[in-house]
Amino acid sequence: MIKRLVQKVSTLFSRSLARPARVRREPKRIPVAEHGIDRNRVPRNAVRVCETLQKAGHRAYIVGGAVRDLLLGVTPKDFDVATDATPEQVKSHFRRAIIIGRRFRLVHVMFGSETIEVSTFRALDNPERQTDEHGRVLADNLFGAQHEDAARRDFTINALYYDPLTETVLDYHDGVKDLRRKRLRIIGDPETRYREDPVRMLRAVRFAAKLGFQIDEATREPIRRMAPLIENVPAARLFDEMLKLLTSGHSVACIMRLRAEGLHHGLLPLLDVILEQPAGERFVMLALSRTDERVQTGKHIAPGFLFATLLWHEVLKRWKEREARGEHRIPALDAAIDDVLEAQTEKLAIQRRYTSDMREIWMLQPRFERRTGRAPFKLLEHLRLRAGYDFLVLRCAAEEAPAELGEWWTGFMHATDAEREQLVAAAHASGVPGAGARRRRRRGRGGGAARTAAPQ
Ligand code: ATP
Ligand code: MG
Repeated sequence: MIKRLVQKVSTLFSRSLARPARVRREPKRIPVAEHGIDRNRVPRNAVRVCETLQKAGHRAYIVGGAVRDLLLGVTPKDFDVATDATPEQVKSHFRRAIIIGRRFRLVHVMFGSETIEVSTFRALDNPERQTDEHGRVLADNLFGAQHEDAARRDFTINALYYDPLTETVLDYHDGVKDLRRKRLRIIGDPETRYREDPVRMLRAVRFAAKLGFQIDEATREPIRRMAPLIENVPAARLFDEMLKLLTSGHSVACIMRLRAEGLHHGLLPLLDVILEQPAGERFVMLALSRTDERVQTGKHIAPGFLFATLLWHEVLKRWKEREARGEHRIPALDAAIDDVLEAQTEKLAIQRRYTSDMREIWMLQPRFERRTGRAPFKLLEHLRLRAGYDFLVLRCAAEEAPAELGEWWTGFMHATDAEREQLVAAAHASGVPGAGARRRRRRGRGGGAARTAAPQ
């Protein structure tokens, strides 16, 4: 009883803390001497878009993540522009521009391979806004004033506007102060904001982990309670947000925070799998920390590979169950993959181009066990060999597959034709599996052509 009362009081208290500061109409204007953004770090085309729109009599600013990152001295991933011009007006000022999107209409202004995304300031209280029965916003295209646009953004540090021509930062919600204090604070009443868009809870975790910020108490408190709302988010959107989280370069920290905030439980089957299977956890954490390393050193991440690692132990489990029921090894694996992908995509829709990569990587695994006859030579020709091999090496590092198997393949892939024949003969002599299988296969086709498939 008392406990409940205390809980209620503390909730009320945190809600009153979270009460939206009255929407500020006039922003703080922070000059370059104070914010220190180096204009030369803004790509010419982003400046050009602001300049063209301003010359046509509009307001136009660089906005969102780019301003946050510039202030933090981090190189922004992309540059977005916000303006009071309508999408049609924006489009009319550029030679190559297209209007995209339905939930939010945006303009993509293209310069060669570079695209600058331009959005029109959105209105705050839009009576025409369509929501679902939980309050989630479905469609919203009413344009508004700049201060409204700022109030609709998710966190204070994401609601900053930078004018590259005057070099001024416009700050409506004390975002710069929060940046300096390393605080992640949602704009407005947290509960309402999470209800409007439950993905903001995942974004809170992602930004906090990525930037090493603390989540402000009023912003953090409702998350555990409201976590189940994530279930109403369309599976495709959830996939996009999870992919951002996993490829943020801080996925291990993100996953830890998701767990700490109770956001993983029962919501994303994928994360349940990761975090609640001790056998899988080691493998997944290893995979994620390697992914983080790759992102941080600017290397490419293949989402198919990443999701293949996340779900591997679930595949293994179902594969073993099917084999125990007497199904043959390879068809059992194939069917286990179907089971896992089906269960997963219901909640978090992994795109088909990635699931086909995942299937190939997984189906290659038993083939690595066959080290005699022509089988390993044939495998060298497989288009996805490299991904399958990297996956095998990871399994070995996590001690889920024998280290010796990975070492053998590393040797085999880097060897000359003659050395390969010796490796296969040695494997045969030591009685590794697969010797019987090769006799049924035809001989011929060997090392010569296959060598080109080996890693450089
Ligand atoms: P990143 O560096 O990860 O791309 P970002 O801040 O640029 O971070 P985006 O998802 O690209 O994140 O979104 C751009 C901007 O749009 C954000 O900075 C924020 O102002 C706004 N925004 C994005 N998603 C939401 C949301 N769900 N609710 C409110 N505002 C959002
Ligand atoms: Mg962005």
